[in-house]
This record gives sequence, structure tokens and C-alpha cells, in this order.
Amino acid sequence: MKLKADLHIHSVYSDGRDPPSVIIQQAMAKGFSVISISDHNTFEGSMKAIRLLPKSGVDLLVIPGSEVRTDKGDVLVYCEHPFETPFRLLDLVDKAHENNCLVVPAHPFDLFRLGIGEAVYSVRGWDAIEVWNASSTRKSNKRALEVARELGLPGLANSDAHVAEQIGSAYTIIEAGDLSVGEVMESIRKGMVQPHFGSRGVKATFKWLEWSLERRIRGVLEGRGSQCLD
Ligand SMILES: [Zn+2]
Repeated sequence: MKLKADLHIHSVYSDGRDPPSVIIQQAMAKGFSVISISDHNTFEGSMKAIRLLPKSGVDLLVIPGSEVRTDKGDVLVYCEHPFETPFRLLDLVDKAHENNCLVVPAHPFDLFRLGIGEAVYSVRGWDAIEVWNASSTRKSNKRALEVARELGLPGLANSDAHVAEQIGSAYTIIEAGDLSVGEVMESIRKGMVQPHFGSRGVKATFKWLEWSLERRIRGVLEGRGSQCLD
């Protein structure tokens, strides 16, 4: 079966605007079969979404995921079962694989948003590369695509949505035997994926700008500064 997937979405559990319930609704309305709510340094967004989904009658799979900020930059981790994620990149990769998880560098050449850049070459055993991030520049995505080809790694395309309107602005079609976390992760490992490139539309960009501004103003008012994770 061909599954439409967006595996990089943020919720209120990090710097996203929407709760997992809204993300689920949007993903289903847009015809997605697989999502991961990959909040910064926590699996909580995905775990909450999994708890919200009915046990049967819903054709949406949520893969537990997190975008981990390592000492070298941001890395997406997908797992059947969440684990304590180390800060050092090489430790994260080892521990993720011990736990049968996938490790994927997020927007690796978007250095303004803490992609890991050339450190992509320091790791043996990436399971895939995020070759297209709808919130990144074309130039950084192009470089990620080239590196994926050079290293012979599967490429994922994701929205990196921080507001639900952005979900699906880029996505990946995954060919899998069934709609289960284990099967979908195995298909990614085998490269049975087709990334679909896209960018935020006008409405989604407006909503994202509105949310970015609100988040920064709130940060300043609450004394956290204007720093954000993205
Ligand atoms: Zn992200």
C-alpha cells in the first residue's frame, strides 16, 4: 500500500501552535495515512496523539518521533518506543539504533535552523536524510538531495509544520505492507520512499508568520527572550 506521510510536525509540546488533536484532524482532512509529531527534544506530542486516536476505525498511523537538538545540530528520531535521547550526536545515533529507531538529519544544510551541515559525513548509519524541508531554502534542500544521492540514502520530504495549515506542504509516499510503525520504519530503511517537494502556500505562510510573531512577543513578555527552536 502507498502511504502519504508527513514526519516532521511540531505541536504545543514544543514551539508549535496547535495541540495534537488539531494536527490529527488536519492530517486526516488532507488524506495523510502516517504522521509523526516530532517536537523538540520530546516524544510527548506523538504520544499524546497516539493516546487520542481510537484503537480501530481510523486510518492514521502516528509514529513516535522527536527532533533532537544535539551538539552538532537537529536530528529526527523515529521509534516504536520513546527513549531518553543523549545530547551528543554520536551517542544519539548509537542509542537510537540500540532501540531499533531511525535517525534522520533534519534540514541538514539549513545552517540558520541548526542543520548539522558537514557533520552529516561523521555518522555511519543514517537511516535516511530529510532531503526536502518545506520551511527551508531551496539551496539547502538541493544540497541535502545531493548528499543523499552521494551516500545512497533514502530521502524524506516533510513540512516542518509549526501551524496545522502547513501540514503536507511537502510529504513522502511510503510503500509499505501494512499500516504499522514497524512496517513503515522498515520501508524507510529499505528506501521504499518517494519524496514530494513543495513549499508553504500563501495562507500557511501568513499563519506561520502570525504564530512566529506571537511566540516571540510572548517570549519577551515572559522573560524568555525572543529565542525560538524552529
Ligand atoms: Zn522542526
